[in-house]
Amino acid sequence: MEKVKTLIIGSGPAGYTAAIYAGRADLKPVLYSGMQPGGQLTITTVVENFPGYPNGVDGTQMMMDMKEQAARFGADLRDGSIEKVDFSSRPYHLTDERGNEIEADTVIIATGASAKYLGLPDEEKYRGQGVSACATCDGFFYRKRTVAVVGGGDTACEEALYLSSLAKKVYMIVRKPYLRAAEIMQQRVKEKENIEILFETNTLGLFGENGVEGAHLVRHKGEANEEEFDIAIDGFFLAIGHKPNTDLFKDYLELDEQGFIKVIPGTASTKLPGIFAAGDVADPVYRQGIVAAGSGAKAAIEADRYLQTL
Ligand SMILES: Cc1cc2nc3c(=O)[nH]c(=O)nc-3n(C[C@H](O)[C@H](O)[C@H](O)COP(=O)(O)OP(=O)(O)OC[C@H]3O[C@@H](n4cnc5c(N)ncnc54)[C@H](O)[C@@H]3O)c2cc1C
Repeated sequence: MEKVKTLIIGSGPAGYTAAIYAGRADLKPVLYSGMQPGGQLTITTVVENFPGYPNGVDGTQMMMDMKEQAARFGADLRDGSIEKVDFSSRPYHLTDERGNEIEADTVIIATGASAKYLGLPDEEKYRGQGVSACATCDGFFYRKRTVAVVGGGDTACEEALYLSSLAKKVYMIVRKPYLRAAEIMQQRVKEKENIEILFETNTLGLFGENGVEGAHLVRHKGEANEEEFDIAIDGFFLAIGHKPNTDLFKDYLELDEQGFIKVIPGTASTKLPGIFAAGDVADPVYRQGIVAAGSGAKAAIEADRYLQTL
């Protein structure tokens, strides 16, 4: 059976940064790239908020650069996914999709999280052309324009408030007759003059010739007073939650109620010695490339310190 000091699962900014740090610390890391080599940033166009790129950078290019940098320091970068883990005893035991078995002294989990979508065909059609699941990432492109945020929880309120300082007008499309967010968030949203909440409203579809130009909505769906109507918007932001890619680990690690891995606050360490989590998979709050990269660095430094105690 193959034995490795540090196994990294995932090839987004967290995974590659961990590989750069672990490689430079001579931990000879092995990294599995998974189904989405390069991670979520490969499905966006320009990344404008990652420091070091004053003119922005193509997301796929940035991830190829990170990959090259990890390879330069000796990381063994592999295609394919980890399919099974056994964290019940040390060294930890992992199996890849080809059935290869690996024993690892430390594991850095950087498997990311995926935004939830409503499941409408139009979300796919207009993805990157007006449909977004990240206001912090894409809000800037909608300055002085009109956008809609789908969702009624804390995240939806946060996204709506963030967008309200950039956009001319923000609709919130809320399925229920009330907001689920904390009272203080609800109040802030209601106080904003350019936010209009559309309660008891569902989205039927989107329309537009060149990107999103509007949404078809229905109010009181399935009731006697059901009413269909359209709103003109330039951007459609989903804020109905994220699904962290943690199914593999749920029997061994502590997860929060949404399924994110719980780490010891301020660190990348889980409760299991030698198992670390970095990036979106352990981050229900920020979910940004730079934050993921930073936590990947932390995970590798902590892995190195842990290995020195063995
Ligand atoms: C459309 C879009 C635009 C965005 N724009 C920006 C932006 O402009 N600026 C910004 O800072 N952030 C942006 N983000 C957020 C940013 O992409 C994420 O915060 C960041 O990619 C998280 O990095 P990560 O390394 O934690 O995980 P991810 O990038 O999600 O990568 C997860 C990795 O894990 C791998 N994986 C999963 N399961 C397995 C497995 N079982 N075995 C092996 N590998 C596995 C996947 O293949 C993938 O490589 C955007 C996100 C999206 C979706």
